Amino acid sequence: MDDLKFGTRDKRGNWAPNEPLEIAPFWLGKWRKMARFLLDYIWPWNAFHMATTLLYWFFVIPDVEVMKTMSWGWGLYLLAVNAAGIFLFFGAVEFFFYVKRKQETRFKYNAKFPSENPSDVFWFKSQNLDNFLRSFLIGIPLWTLMEVVALWAFANGYHVFGWLEWQTSWVWLVVLTLLVPAIHEVHFFCIHRLIHTPLLYKWIHSVHHNSINPSPWSSLSMHPIEHIAYFAEMLWHFVIPSNPIVMLFNSHSLGYGALNGHIGFDKLEITENTPVDSHAFAHYLHHKYFEVNYGADGLVPLDKWFGYWHDGSKEADERMKERFRKKKERVKAKQQTTT
Ligand SMILES: [Zn+2]
Ligand SMILES: [Zn+2]
Repeated sequence: MDDLKFGTRDKRGNWAPNEPLEIAPFWLGKWRKMARFLLDYIWPWNAFHMATTLLYWFFVIPDVEVMKTMSWGWGLYLLAVNAAGIFLFFGAVEFFFYVKRKQETRFKYNAKFPSENPSDVFWFKSQNLDNFLRSFLIGIPLWTLMEVVALWAFANGYHVFGWLEWQTSWVWLVVLTLLVPAIHEVHFFCIHRLIHTPLLYKWIHSVHHNSINPSPWSSLSMHPIEHIAYFAEMLWHFVIPSNPIVMLFNSHSLGYGALNGHIGFDKLEITENTPVDSHAFAHYLHHKYFEVNYGADGLVPLDKWFGYWHDGSKEADERMKERFRKKKERVKAKQQTTT
């Protein structure tokens, strides 16, 4: 597929899309774009997260009676399934697009592949190995632990509103399922902006940002405290009327969905003529410029409202540089008054 029909490539070989990012069309009154937006909203990524959620619910998650008691047995089983699932899903993207390089650098934002850049900031000087080990040794166990606690709490009725049944509350539960990406954007924006404050950034979030050129294994490569804050999003389902399937869908959007921002390609050519949008650009720009796009795609456009939104355009670039310049001046003035 010719990626230059959709974007441009600079002298270094880095590709950028022609179309700037747009927040959700209903915020802009662009109602004609709603049909396309809704299709994108569901297909393929959220449909995939719902499919894995249902597979888990019917074939992996134990009976309620078993979950009433916390035990190593079902906890470790869930850990093994989560690790295998992430290994297969992230690993497939890594294998075809980063190891085999099936579409080379077509639609790739950064022309370089992480394996070409050894760096001291990573364990064993390798971004891939560092990111892989942090995900599997720390990230996935913490994610599973929080899932186990959440399922155990649901099974025992430790919930502000109890366990809502689909038969009686299906309208609300469908609405809540559709709102999960919005819950995600709000929660992620808040914790993410918080860990970008200087001290928390230095101690916690810099681990994730070591990957300036992210790839699939970067997705869950974080400091353990960031893992906990990130996956704590599923705990919202204890203070809003919910059901464990919706909680699990939220959990899968976090675990499996972390991949999207770190794919590194704007489109994945599944076959020559069937590209899939990765929705990676907003978060790619965050890894590139750090202090922009703390949230996601602009479903709840907190970045826009707070002035952090970068849509990939030249104008947004200018606005960002101006903001950084003003920030530098403020820091300088503060330093001068204290000395
Ligand atoms: Zn990231
Ligand atoms: Zn960040």
